[in-house]
Amino acid sequence: MSLNPVRPWRNVYRRKSRQIMVGKVPVGGDAPISVQTMTNTDTSDVKATLDQVLRAADVGADIVRVSTPDEASTKALKEICRESPVPIVADIHFHYRRAIEAAEAGAACLRINPGNIGDEKRVREVIAAAKDHGCSIRIGVNAGSLEKHLLEKYGEPCPEAMVESALEHIRILEDNDFREYKVSVKASDVFLSAAAYQALAEATDAPLHLGITEAGGLISGTVKSAIGLGNLLWMGIGDTIRVSLSADPVEEVKVGYEILKSLGLRTRGVQIISCPSCARQGFDVIKTVEALEKRLEHIKQPMSLSIIGCVVNGPGEALMTDIGFTGGGAGSGMIYLAGKQSHKMSNEQMIDEIVRLVEERAEKLAAEAQAAEAAAQ
Ligand code: SF4
Repeated sequence: MSLNPVRPWRNVYRRKSRQIMVGKVPVGGDAPISVQTMTNTDTSDVKATLDQVLRAADVGADIVRVSTPDEASTKALKEICRESPVPIVADIHFHYRRAIEAAEAGAACLRINPGNIGDEKRVREVIAAAKDHGCSIRIGVNAGSLEKHLLEKYGEPCPEAMVESALEHIRILEDNDFREYKVSVKASDVFLSAAAYQALAEATDAPLHLGITEAGGLISGTVKSAIGLGNLLWMGIGDTIRVSLSADPVEEVKVGYEILKSLGLRTRGVQIISCPSCARQGFDVIKTVEALEKRLEHIKQPMSLSIIGCVVNGPGEALMTDIGFTGGGAGSGMIYLAGKQSHKMSNEQMIDEIVRLVEERAEKLAAEAQAAEAAAQ
């Protein structure tokens, strides 16, 4: 991510982590912060799982995790990994056989804690399978399932216990000459999670996977994740994120992107800036924004759009956005392009006109990106 010399108060200085690969997606170093989600289908139902993976990928998921609790799931994983447009992480808890099967099936990463899979021989077998098949590993420490000896030592889940657990698992991988790993220390408590991640960021240079676990439903979980992940990302901590919501995985991806967009860490699609509306509005702002969000969902190119009810804030916001509309009087408003007044438009035709302008700009940006890519080859 490039730093902003004009507005230094917007800069986020990312912690320097080493980079690993999750399939074709780099995680850590200067790689863009990736967005993950997890399927909630029965993994052995290949069609349902792939459908969910595709929907998540379509809204921008870079990596998707799939639970593999039994042999039927690791069998299904082969087709899922083959057909998926994004790398698949296999979520395994204790069964070392499932880990080996998942690596053989094409998983790009195994989510497994090496300290929980049994004796050294089993650990070595899993690591060998990961090496043979080019899998990375995510160590996933969770405050709710800390090892007994750490709970006895610390009395309750605390940042120190979580980091110690992570370092114990890290040591096992390092002792086996395995460095393609990333780490998470999740808790449902924002304070605990944030403190654990801060301490872990000091203790290792491994890339960190951020998450507030069991965050809650769409609204409460979004707020909690935005506070927890938002603070850490603002501090420069975090290389890949997953927002955990009791909601459709597609929502998790959208929320993840919104958090990154808010911090200027990543851009994708149209970022709408809109006012809450009041008696001064020259058109129905809320209904318009709802309609535009739906109609612009397919846009992948980054751009900003301001939809403001009246001239109190409209021209000012339009100055800082690519496309803008400001409500006026007598059933029409003003369209702005790159901060400058462009043309008047009636309230009835305004949504169609904005969609047209956004699509036109998206096409232009895509063509420019293609040309730049061709020139670089
Ligand atoms: S921009 Fe105008 S319409 Fe929107 S909230 Fe402010 S005063 Fe009200």
